[in-house]
Parts: sequence; structure tokens; C-alpha cells
Amino acid sequence: MPADDLAALIRTIPDFPKPGIQFRDITTLLLDPAGLARAVEAIIDAVDGPVDLVAGIEARGFLFASPVALALGAGVLLVRKDGKLPGATIAEDYALEYGTDRIAIHADAFAPGARVLLIDDLIATGGTARAAVRLLRKAGAQVTQAAFVIDLPDLGGADALRAEGIHVTSLVAFDGH
Ligand code: AMP
Repeated sequence: MPADDLAALIRTIPDFPKPGIQFRDITTLLLDPAGLARAVEAIIDAVDGPVDLVAGIEARGFLFASPVALALGAGVLLVRKDGKLPGATIAEDYALEYGTDRIAIHADAFAPGARVLLIDDLIATGGTARAAVRLLRKAGAQVTQAAFVIDLPDLGGADALRAEGIHVTSLVAFDGH
């Protein structure tokens, strides 16, 4: 399935969750068996080298991290909003338009040197993904690759990740915000 067909399965909802945002809604892609399979396969095809863990960013990143991990023979690592994980955690703050947010992982999730592939549904400014990379590296992971179903290149997040030494894959790009 070409990228154009994947893009057609992603619905755009204007002004959600606030005016001016074009929300790229993957629930329509998830509902389509061939589209979902193609998206997962395309991420798997782009993986470069061995992966021990696939880190999914809450919550939509989990949906793609799990099938990719199964195919790679890797485990799944949850990168969650702070306060959701039951065990001892390490966390990382990142800036939002107004204020800050915090993501966390279990402190004992992996041994130093684990090779981690980062996955989310969409990269926009890259604030979330860059915080996840900082957090994973702080915990001793080797993070050299990340994959997203959607890139909003005008917001520069993928380029910012590349500047930090990450090989970035995205399946569909949309102009604008
Ligand atoms: P950012 O940190 O700016 O790269 O934003 C990425 C996170 O916010 C991802 O977890 C996305 O799911 C979500 N997100 C940001 N912008 C959009 C958008 N236009 N449509 C859907 N989700 C978005």
C-alpha cells in the first residue's frame, strides 16, 4: 500500500482539541485491517539493526510499538505520563506551549546498553519524542532510531531528533500544523 493510501486512511479533524489545530486522527487507520498491517510492516521494514526493546509513547504509540516488537522479537517498554506506572520510576520534564509535562519509565526496565527503538503515532514539535530520548539515554539505553506514522515536518521535530543522532522514519507527512 503506497503512502498516499495510508494518508487517505488518516482523518483530519479541524480545531481539535483547540482552535487552529488540525488533529490527525489515526483511529480511522486503526479500523482498516490492511492499512493497519501496512503501517506496522512499513515501520518494521525501516528498522536498522538489532533492537532489544520497542519504547511506545503513551498512548497511541503503544498501539504500534507492540506489533513491531512482536515482529522484531523485542520487548515493549512503556513511556507513560508521570504518575501512571506502579513501580519506581525515572522521569523527564519537557516544555509545552503553556507549562511543562513529565514522562516516566520504570527505573528497572532495562540494563544499561539496551538497544531501544522509539515509536509514537505522530511527531510535531518533537518535544515529547526528544524528552523520551533524553529519558531513555539517562537510563542507559542506546537510542539510535525512532519511527512515527505521521510527521508534521513544518514543525521541525523530526529534524531536531535527527540532530541528536536519531535515524527517523515516518510513513506519512502532512503540511502545516
Ligand atoms: P510534539 O511533542 O509536539 O511532537 O507532539 C507529539 C505528541 O502530540 C504525539 O504524542 C501526538 O500524538 C500528539 N499530537 C501533536 N500534534 C498533533 C496533531 N496535529 N494531531 C494529532 N496528534 C498530535
